[in-house]
Order: sequence, then structure tokens, then C-alpha cells
Amino acid sequence: MPIPRRNFLQSAAGASALVLAPRFAQADEQAERATRGLPAPRIKDISVIECEPQGVRLTVVKITTDQDGLYGYGCATFTQRADLVKPAVEKYLRPFLLGKTTDRIEDIWQSCYDSSYWRNGPVLNNAISGIDEALWDIKGRQANMPVYQLAGGKCREAVDAYAHASGAEFEDVVTNARQLMAQGFRNIRVQVGLPGLAGYGSQHGNAARPQALHDKPLFDREAQFRRALKLLEVCRRELGEEVQLLHDMHERLTPNEAVQFCKLAEPYHMFFLEDPLSPEDIDYFRQIRQNCATPIAMGELFNSPHEWQPLIAERLIDYIRVHLSQAGGFSPSRKIAILAEQFGVRTAWHGPGDVSPVGHMANVTLDLVSYNFGIQEYSPFNERTQAIFQGCPEIRDGYLWVSEKPGWGIEIDEKEAARAPFTQSPLNGGWGEIRLPDGTVIKQ
Ligand SMILES: [Mg+2]
Repeated sequence: MPIPRRNFLQSAAGASALVLAPRFAQADEQAERATRGLPAPRIKDISVIECEPQGVRLTVVKITTDQDGLYGYGCATFTQRADLVKPAVEKYLRPFLLGKTTDRIEDIWQSCYDSSYWRNGPVLNNAISGIDEALWDIKGRQANMPVYQLAGGKCREAVDAYAHASGAEFEDVVTNARQLMAQGFRNIRVQVGLPGLAGYGSQHGNAARPQALHDKPLFDREAQFRRALKLLEVCRRELGEEVQLLHDMHERLTPNEAVQFCKLAEPYHMFFLEDPLSPEDIDYFRQIRQNCATPIAMGELFNSPHEWQPLIAERLIDYIRVHLSQAGGFSPSRKIAILAEQFGVRTAWHGPGDVSPVGHMANVTLDLVSYNFGIQEYSPFNERTQAIFQGCPEIRDGYLWVSEKPGWGIEIDEKEAARAPFTQSPLNGGWGEIRLPDGTVIKQ
């Protein structure tokens, strides 16, 4: 006699439950082992640590969990609008996240990203970065592993870095570059002052100011064009063929001037020219590509996928140079690295003084785990910074080394941080203005 269908299903369910029970028990046991018998941590508090140990406002988010001694730090540094990041974290993300489990980093990133409805702005992205990187730190501390292990392990032993050589005159730049080379750096970014003008990356206060129709900081595109090109010629001649030269154009020329500059720089065999165009002019990268083979790095101002996607997918740049916290932290930047690998674009994450040491460690971690790593920008940490951020990435012979401690490997001394508060300034750390001789304001 056939078994009625309902009974058959019931008996089948009963039989499979018997078979599956040991499997569930096994899975539970594995999960318990992986979490060391502890339940998933929950977010108990979120706070913001602010300090200015080196003349630049730094912002770090701290997530504290309900498990004793388990917490993490994430970089949320947007130095020019630092006062806006703190309330974005405290007034919006904190109430949204309290009580949530720290285990689901991707889910938390996506839900924070979506919770403002309007998104991809630098304040909100930096706030999310603080949360994202703090969660990675927590996961590393739970696993008793550095974050690079959680992200697949090292592709290389250490991270080839470039340092900045600046000076008012060409010979000053050459002297400073030689000192850096003597310290072991193989890659040098060179910037020279512009007499009487407000150049980028180097000042020149000795020359008379040219005539202008205003009294604000003054810039002249043609003067910059000629001086920067001359700098590359001098540096290549004086420093030799072996050193890698980099230069930051800082989006200060017109699009056509930028195309010309990249073309004329070709004989100097640059490692890369940085930011020849502003994000508003990215369609001109096609023209640079059509005219020359000078390697191009771009992206420190990007905060939307719509900005980096076409440049990577059309192979219009050689190095993607996103500022990790500006893009939303370690998680989205890792996806950018993976996308770039598919198209032969290498990484050169933004790494000057307006990144906290936690952010620098996130940079170095991504450098280590990404096959398509290109180079890492380096800026030194002074004693005051190292007293606050204990465990900064170390530089030796021009290579940056990651911490082998769990998480990011950095502990923050909050008392030391409180001793280096934001300094008072009329613009609260914001940048001023730079104008052409006729008074037109420029991107700086
Ligand atoms: Mg730059």
C-alpha cells in the first residue's frame, strides 16, 4: 500500500533530521572553535578620537564591543572638514549601529552607505570608513591575526614606497632627493617652488610677487608648466637614470596644457605623473593616452565608483590612487584593487600626512595583499604621532613594513591624543583660496 504523500514527507523529514543532526552539531562545534567559544561581539559604543600631532587634523573612529577588551580603530580623516565627520559618526552612524554584531562587515558597510539615501560624499564616506576599518581591526583581534592574513596573506614581503623631495630651487630639490636616496628610497616625488607664486608641494618665498589684480595667494599656469618641466629635466640629469621620478601636477593646468605636459614629460621616463586633470575633466584622459605613454596616476579626490570605473575599465590610467577613507574605507578600496587587477591597472593609494597611522596601516595592508600593487606614498611619522599611535608602519631602506600584531597592530593612547587637540585656525583646518593674476580662483 502506497504511503500517503503527507505521511511520506513527514517521515522523510524525520529521517533527514536524524541524518543532519550530527552535521549541525559539527557546524556548531566548528563555529564555536572559530569564535573561541564566545558569541559574536556586539557594538557597545562608538566614539571619535581627534588629534593634531603633526600640523594636520586626524580623525579616528573607535568601536567598543560588549566583550571585555575587544575594540577596534578606523581612519576617518578628512582634514579640511574634520569638524563635520565627528557628528556624522556620533549623530547618525552610532545610533544606527549600537547593538549590531561586529561580524558582518560587508553588511554593515552596505547598510551605512544606504542609510543616508544620498551618498558618495566625502564626509559620509570618511565616517563609514572609520566604522569599516574599526570592524576589520576587531575581526583581526578576534582571530589573533593581522588584517592582511584575513585578506588572503602577503603577495610580497614589504611595500616599496616613495618619498617627497621638495625645495624652493632646483638644486634644493636635487639635494633633498639625494638625501632620500642615501636613506634607501628608490622612488622620489619631486616638487619645486614657483618664484613669487603659490606652487603646490613646495614654497618659494624669496622672489617678488608678480603683478596681479588681487592680494590673495597667486598662481600662474604657464609659469608652473615651464618650471615643472624644467624640474624633471634637471632631476633626471642630476639624479641619474636609475631613480624613479614622480611628480604631482595637482590638477592645476588646463586640460589641453595637461595633455601637452604629459607628452613633453615622456623623455624623462617618469614612474608616474599624478593628477594631471581634475575629477571634473576625466574625459580628457583619453587624449593623454592617445598622445603619449607617460604613466598616469589619478584618484585621490575620487569618492564615487562612477569616477574610477571608466578610467580603470578603459585602461586610461596606470595607477589608481584613491584615498582609502574618502572611498569608504578598506572594504570598498579592496574591491577597487581587485577591479583594477582585471584591467592591468596598479595601485598607488594616497598616503601623505592627512591620513592617520591607522589609515596608513590599511594602505600597507592593501599593498601587501594586492597582486597589482604599484607603489605606496610615504610620509614620516613624528615622535608626537608615534606617542599617540603606538605601532605605526615602519620604513626601512625605502620599504614600508606592516605590523605583525593582531588587527591593524596599532594602539591609541587617548590621553596623549587629548594633549594634541585641533589647533585653532580661522578656517578650522580648511584650505584657503588661490587665484590667477586676473582674480580667477583655481582648483588647488
Ligand atoms: Mg596628490
